[in-house]
Amino acid sequence: MKDTQENSSVNLQEAYIESLYAADPDLEQVRRSLHEHGKHDISVAPGYGRLLTLLVRMSGARNIIEIGALGGYSGICLARGLPEGGKLVSLELKQDLADLARMNLTKAGLGGKVEYRVGEALGHLEQLEREGARFDFFFIDADKGNYVNYLEMAIRLGNPGAIIAGDNTFLRGKTLDPASNGNSARQIRRFNELIAADPRLESTILPAYDGLALARVKGQNLI
Ligand code: SAH
Ligand code: MG
Repeated sequence: MKDTQENSSVNLQEAYIESLYAADPDLEQVRRSLHEHGKHDISVAPGYGRLLTLLVRMSGARNIIEIGALGGYSGICLARGLPEGGKLVSLELKQDLADLARMNLTKAGLGGKVEYRVGEALGHLEQLEREGARFDFFFIDADKGNYVNYLEMAIRLGNPGAIIAGDNTFLRGKTLDPASNGNSARQIRRFNELIAADPRLESTILPAYDGLALARVKGQNLI
């Protein structure tokens, strides 16, 4: 009972914050298109979308990688923060979703900033490492079972000072549910532990919405 009350007051707080912001036609178009294509809308929470734009802009990131595109909601938020000439590489398992996301970013005037790579994200990350690619900003938001692998790749592909954001650290309640012991729940718990304790990172984990991990990759001298 206490839990339910706490959750509903949190939702009221989130709803209040949302009521302060004007409608965002580009992001509404993403939601509409997901609905029209019969896709489950699991886009990042609006407050975290705004945070992604802010973090990209404040950090001055020029090269971003997103893992999990869906309909392009987070892609729009990330690309909005980029300077002139900045670039977003977006990894997406499914061709139809990459096409949908590309269409939505193009409608939002951001099509020229994004490149989609379709298929298993881990394979693409390994290929990017072989190519010597480096990034300033990572948004991890695909299959939870690979979060620990994605985090390791992000640290390896990150420029000194790179920012790593990881969505859904609560896994819709599963992280804190002792009865949830599937691979996704176990991997998310491990991911959260690594975010908090890996000496190569400084970090925090935000508990609003479904939870968001934020980390900065330290430089070679670990500062
Ligand atoms: N970041 C998006 C939401 C992503 S939902 C947003 O906030 O707008 C998770 C996405 O990850 C889905 O589109 C799914 O197809 C993709 N995905 C799942 N497993 C994947 C994998 N192994 N490699 C790449 N993408 C994957
Ligand atoms: Mg997510």
